[in-house]
Amino acid sequence: MNNITKEELNKYRNDTAGCSGLVHFNNAGASLPPDVVIDTIVDYLKEEATYGGYETEYKNIARIEGVYQLIADLVGAEKEEVAIFENASAAWGTAFKGLTFQEGDEIITCEMEYVTNMIGLADVRKKGIKVIVVGNDANGNFPLADLEKAINSKTKLIAVTHIPSSGGGILPINEIGKVANKHQVLYMVDACQTAGQYPIDVKEIGCDILSATGRKYMRAPRGTGFLFVKRSVQDKLSPVLMDFLAASNVSLDGYTLRNDARRFELYEKSRALTLGLGKAIEYALTVGLDRIWQRVQYLADLARTELSSIPGVTVHDIGSELCGIVTFSVEGIDSMAVRNKLVENGINVSFGGSQATPIYMEKHGLKGIVRASLHYYNKESEIATMCDFLKEHPFVS
Ligand SMILES: *Cc1c(COP(=O)(O)O)cnc(C)c1O
Repeated sequence: MNNITKEELNKYRNDTAGCSGLVHFNNAGASLPPDVVIDTIVDYLKEEATYGGYETEYKNIARIEGVYQLIADLVGAEKEEVAIFENASAAWGTAFKGLTFQEGDEIITCEMEYVTNMIGLADVRKKGIKVIVVGNDANGNFPLADLEKAINSKTKLIAVTHIPSSGGGILPINEIGKVANKHQVLYMVDACQTAGQYPIDVKEIGCDILSATGRKYMRAPRGTGFLFVKRSVQDKLSPVLMDFLAASNVSLDGYTLRNDARRFELYEKSRALTLGLGKAIEYALTVGLDRIWQRVQYLADLARTELSSIPGVTVHDIGSELCGIVTFSVEGIDSMAVRNKLVENGINVSFGGSQATPIYMEKHGLKGIVRASLHYYNKESEIATMCDFLKEHPFVS
């Protein structure tokens, strides 16, 4: 059900320069940032250019610190459990590569796993670590009973993606967390498409590690991401790369590791983008993640209904709970060609190839899909624009 008034919607759209010129349904790729995010970044860069990068940082240290608190607020964590990265792949990879596995250990994953994570898992398999995929059932739902059955004394990690890159289904991460916690197995969640779309609470999820990116549903600038590592788990991960931010008392005999999650990040990064990430989180928290999630579901449901009614269009999303990512294909037409035609006509959708979510795509025989990922600032008439275009253009080549 729609939960946002016309006035509110107008405000959100007026706050976003990109909303005026096009239909943007590529929020799972990179969503349109609110103007205030861009202003924050540009103002900070100008300040750096005028006063010097270090001097500007010292002057703004409280604001920069505040971003860690905002991330913590967004995911229900402590500030000391947050590290800032330039993307989710580095965040996930830093955590995963920091874990120690022995030959014979087992890792459980899901069919929705993202390509970066698959590469990491493929690498550890070469070292004799077994990776078990608990696939979804015929209705597209994650079978918790199968997860229970897959766990044994050798299981060292459960690593899943909450919302896949190229599918509408969602994993029951809180329920998976209960199983992981019951068996005392380390639990790692890829929340890349979750952040900014769906309310996250690491305590409710029961996860030890969670990674996300800024540019997708979070509406932050490109080149931002973050990692949550639970306090009690931080010592179980060896930092992959360190600089002076991570260590003190450095001599050739060793060093003292920093006592929070920032030991996993490096010092040098864009302060302007960090502040932009913070501003985007502030904006989302003001709108309210529960309200965003409700609106996204309403719009995506509407889009699926409308798309399904078009002859030749098949919607591929399955599962009892679906997100803002709507995937479809047009009979007899290459999905890349459909994507290109829509984009040329001011309707930003994306193409999902089989490599982004390999296990899921292969299982369902999907070589490529058109992905229309909707956000709360989209409107009903934009869905109609896309559907009307598809109805009127049979894509004859
Ligand atoms: C995009 C995506 C990632 C990777 O994020 P980057 O910021 O591009 O590294 C990881 N997982 C999922 C599910 C994604 O959709």
